[in-house]
Amino acid sequence: MNPRRCRILRDGPSGSGPILYWMHREFRASDNWGLTHARLLGLKSHQPVGVVFCLAESYLDATVRHFDFLFRGLEGTSRSIQNSGLRFFVLHGSPGLEVARLARQCGAGAIVMDFDPLRIKRKWVEDLLLSCQIPVHEVDSRNIVPCWITSERREFAARTIRPKIRRLLPEFLEEFPRLPAPRPWAESSTPPDFSRLLTSVKADTTVGPVAWITPGESAGQAVLKNFLSTRLPHYLLRNDPNQDVCSHLSAHLHFGMVSAQRILLELQEQSMQGEQVDSFVEELLVRRELADNFCAYTPDYDAESGFPVWARETLHAHRHDPRPVLHSSEELEHARTLDPLWNAAQTQMVRTGKMHGYLRMYWAKKILEWTPDVHEALRIAIRLNDRYSLDGRDSNGYTGIAWSMGGVHDRGWTERPVFGKIRYMNLQGARRKFDVDRFVRTWSACRKSDPTLPQDA
Ligand SMILES: Cc1cc2nc3c(=O)[nH]c(=O)nc-3n(C[C@H](O)[C@H](O)[C@H](O)COP(=O)(O)OP(=O)(O)OC[C@H]3O[C@@H](n4cnc5c(N)ncnc54)[C@H](O)[C@@H]3O)c2cc1C
Repeated sequence: MNPRRCRILRDGPSGSGPILYWMHREFRASDNWGLTHARLLGLKSHQPVGVVFCLAESYLDATVRHFDFLFRGLEGTSRSIQNSGLRFFVLHGSPGLEVARLARQCGAGAIVMDFDPLRIKRKWVEDLLLSCQIPVHEVDSRNIVPCWITSERREFAARTIRPKIRRLLPEFLEEFPRLPAPRPWAESSTPPDFSRLLTSVKADTTVGPVAWITPGESAGQAVLKNFLSTRLPHYLLRNDPNQDVCSHLSAHLHFGMVSAQRILLELQEQSMQGEQVDSFVEELLVRRELADNFCAYTPDYDAESGFPVWARETLHAHRHDPRPVLHSSEELEHARTLDPLWNAAQTQMVRTGKMHGYLRMYWAKKILEWTPDVHEALRIAIRLNDRYSLDGRDSNGYTGIAWSMGGVHDRGWTERPVFGKIRYMNLQGARRKFDVDRFVRTWSACRKSDPTLPQDA
């Protein structure tokens, strides 16, 4: 394993106790560099390895929909981990403090943890570092090229990060090693009961689980296999929301149940090439790693202050422009706007936990247009995305919303009311791209057949 994947947060010789891997972003047993690093440390020090999951009291706007997906996925993952001779711990409470407490209890020699640039996770790391004195290593297993290696600063746009990633890719696109069995733990453990955990979690139960997608590592591999053989050949049609050609991998990628590196290795292994493959790799590699770069180097990634200066200025200059219509957050949440396309997109997200990628841009820009100011627009868009999208609460979401409303990674366009120089989208433009009425019909029919959804006029 390339040692540059790992960042030492607290140095020192590994103590004599077991190695703990704190899994908080990459919920998978396979293709996981954090787990690989912990196992290598365990082999080097002849110590057993334990994997820790800690359930926080609350997590951003996560609902039962998200916890259900996570826990059902963790069932298989914890089983694979235990079958390979590692121990799996489930903790509850304030994650940094609880992991430190476990480390003290079992006399751990070192802690390895996932990298995540979101503020809530940086606070967990801070708590951990203040509460224990053993070495702490952070491993970036989400990005193929570790975020801190690609760039030490916030990148301007896809065109500035792309050559950096491309240059470093040969160094980091390596196969995951097969490792010998670790030293066993002295005591055996009982398998965690995730269905009980789901009933105890304090989360909004009004946003329920979805059935069209199955969580977990093997289900994620099945989605990938199916995408490569049936949808990737048509991926160039991806901006048409009526075509089912996208990968549908974002939920598994968000929960770390599938590794982006494995996807790229699979494309290589199957010698897949062509414009559609390049286009998919651009999203999976460049856009995705750009999003983590934005959140890592922009602590206020979810606020107007995180926008580039030109965008803040233009939005400020247009802050008193009359809006064509104002919609309350309830009207937006219940898809009761005057725009049938927007309502259909919102219904798709509420109903399935996923909105089509092209429509996400349109959806966010319309929220900017229909709310009193950008601060309120951001608040509503982030809340709705994090609450209903399975892949929400993710760097991609915060960056996508900042791109749509705040010109992040974009340039200025022709000036117009409300938006200023922020890129504008409208219904006529959407009609030129795809059959809007067909999409609206699909989701109105769906809405009418679902008594749990608000029925609008
Ligand atoms: C307003 C807005 C909100 C968004 N919210 C989220 C979110 O909460 N979570 C999320 O994962 N993505 C988000 N995106 C990015 C993108 O729309 C989704 O990743 C994509 O729709 C997921 O569907 P897919 O896996 O079928 O995509 P595919 O087209 O198959 O793409 C494959 C993978 O590439 C990555 N990707 C694709 N587009 C982007 C992008 N623009 N930026 C970064 N990575 C990308 C994702 O990991 C995706 O799973 C958002 C975009 C916008 C404009």
